[in-house]
Amino acid sequence: MKNTEILEFIPGQKEIEPEMLAHPAEVIRAGGLVIFPTETVYGLGGNALDPEAAGKIYAAKGRPSDNPLIIHIAFFEEAERYTYTTPLYYRLAETFMPGPLTVILPARPCIPGTVTAGLPTVAVRCPSHPVAHALIAAAGVPIAAPSANLSGSPSPTCCAHVIDDMRGRVDIILNGGDCDIGLESTIVKIEEDESLTLLRPGAITPADLSAVCPRLTVAPAVLGTLAPGERVLSPGMKYKHYAPAVPFSLLDGDASQCAAYLSAQTGEFGVLCYDEDAGALSGIPGCHLFPIGAKSHPETLAHRLFYLLREADKAGLSALYAPLPNPDGLGLALYNRMIRAAAHHIIKL
Ligand code: AMP
Ligand code: MG
Repeated sequence: MKNTEILEFIPGQKEIEPEMLAHPAEVIRAGGLVIFPTETVYGLGGNALDPEAAGKIYAAKGRPSDNPLIIHIAFFEEAERYTYTTPLYYRLAETFMPGPLTVILPARPCIPGTVTAGLPTVAVRCPSHPVAHALIAAAGVPIAAPSANLSGSPSPTCCAHVIDDMRGRVDIILNGGDCDIGLESTIVKIEEDESLTLLRPGAITPADLSAVCPRLTVAPAVLGTLAPGERVLSPGMKYKHYAPAVPFSLLDGDASQCAAYLSAQTGEFGVLCYDEDAGALSGIPGCHLFPIGAKSHPETLAHRLFYLLREADKAGLSALYAPLPNPDGLGLALYNRMIRAAAHHIIKL
């Protein structure tokens, strides 16, 4: 059990300069672990050039070590030092970085096999959050960081949820307030022929990516389970993910069908409720509503999803439900996370 330091760095209160991150940056360089806020979710960081730091990250999360880590850089041009970049990388970087995009490229030998889980490629991201940027710049090394949750749980989007999972398991937690986006980065792989494969949807949507690279393929696992014998393109796709402890199911039907289904349930249960459905779903005996926002505003749904999955867990309910979202635009990322959080348990109404 470590004596975890919690340091306050709420942006907006003052300009964040790299010098203010000198102490956590030194801890990273010395092989320690620092949790930091990003615009997507909180990350659990260690020195990406130190083979032993990756081992400590896997241990702190309880994560299988065949699931590779994303390396975080302060400026997108630094990808050149750690990967073999291509013209498409620069087109993506100039359009979307700093920001919530992770790009997979062939790795240079300086990246330890413990970070890439032995793959010939490495995932690179340049976050826009001022605290993340200042920490990486101050560290002077790339920071390998998965989401700062215990493996399998929803990613933390506020400091309280980080503390729930990680106090005592890392050296420092930087409190940067709530994460804007609330879902992990979009992950794309640049293929040898300069086409793109979408491995994980996020705030940067397929339409955004197609505007830069029209040759975009969505990996089948984004929308469903792996077919038997299908090759896993992103090792993380094969694990149960983002799941609350309470049994979680998705309802595939309109608001009145959901209301009829929920009215037939017994005990105390919860439902993630869109603003538009609140009328239809209120007043059902035993049903606790967790307002997630308006369907017409998917940014709010993304911002609240993981937060609510964790809060619903604390409410001591016997089951949790959510209507299946429309997989369009940012909805694709919500759909992708929700089907995994529900371990593909979808009730057709
Ligand atoms: P997390 O760090 O929790 O956001 O998860 C990182 C995701 O990136 C996981 O799903 C990994 O499988 C994926 N990933 C990281 N590196 C690679 C890579 N070289 N090739 C394919 N997927 C990767
Ligand atoms: Mg994760």
